[in-house]
Amino acid sequence: MKKIFCNIFGHHYSVSKKVTLHIKEYKCVHCGKEVTTDVSGNLSVLTPELQEINATLEDLYQKRHRTTHTQQVA
Ligand SMILES: [Zn+2]
Repeated sequence: MKKIFCNIFGHHYSVSKKVTLHIKEYKCVHCGKEVTTDVSGNLSVLTPELQEINATLEDLYQKRHRTTHTQQVA
């Protein structure tokens, strides 16, 4: 039933996770389908591979930010 709703009206994605400034993971509020922004800025189905890539990107992104922040403080 919920899937039929999505087929008719399209998925209603809400941000489930911020990976970097430009890459986010989204989840459909109706059917729970998960997608993510890929490197070209399009939405792709969130596969385990992409989830892993996002985790790596998130890690790098946060490290870079911490480093930048520390440098600014110092
Ligand atoms: Zn949906």
